[in-house]
Amino acid sequence: MDSDSFYMGLALEEAQRAFELEEVPVGAVLVDSAGQVLARTHNQPVRASDPTAHAEILAIRAASALLQNYRLPETVLYVTLEPCAMCLGAMLNARIRRLVFGAGDPRSGSAGSVVDLANVSAFNHRIDVRGDVRADESAQMLKKFFQERRGRKNRAL
Ligand SMILES: [Zn+2]
Repeated sequence: MDSDSFYMGLALEEAQRAFELEEVPVGAVLVDSAGQVLARTHNQPVRASDPTAHAEILAIRAASALLQNYRLPETVLYVTLEPCAMCLGAMLNARIRRLVFGAGDPRSGSAGSVVDLANVSAFNHRIDVRGDVRADESAQMLKKFFQERRGRKNRAL
C-alpha cells in the first residue's frame, strides 16, 4: 500500500465517524512534509449548525491552531470526497501544497469535476491534485448513507 492509500485509510475512518453521527460521511487528514498527522477531522455541519463545518475546514483550523500559523505550506490534505469550492478556497489561502481525494463529486467537486480551482493560473497559488484514491470505499459509504437516510425519511411519512 502506498502512503497516499495509508493516509486515505485514516480519512476513511473519520468518514465512518461522521456516518455514525448521521452526518454526510466525509473525513479528512492533514499531514506535514515529514508524514506526521497534524489533524484528523470529519464532516459535522448539522451537529454544529455550521455550513462551513466541512471536514477539510476543520482540519485546516485544527492544524493552524496546532502550528500557530495561518499558512500550512508543504502540507498534504487527504479527504475522502472531492472538495467543494469553499474548501478549495480555504486550501488556497492556507497554501496547502497537495490534495489527495477519494471519490469525485460531479455536483460540487471543485478540484476538476465542476470547476478546477486548484489550478487557476491567475491565482497566486496552485495545488497538486491526485484523485481516485480508494474512491470505491468512499463512494460505497456515501451511497449507503444516502440509502439509509432515504429509508428513514420514508418510514417517517
Ligand atoms: Zn467543503
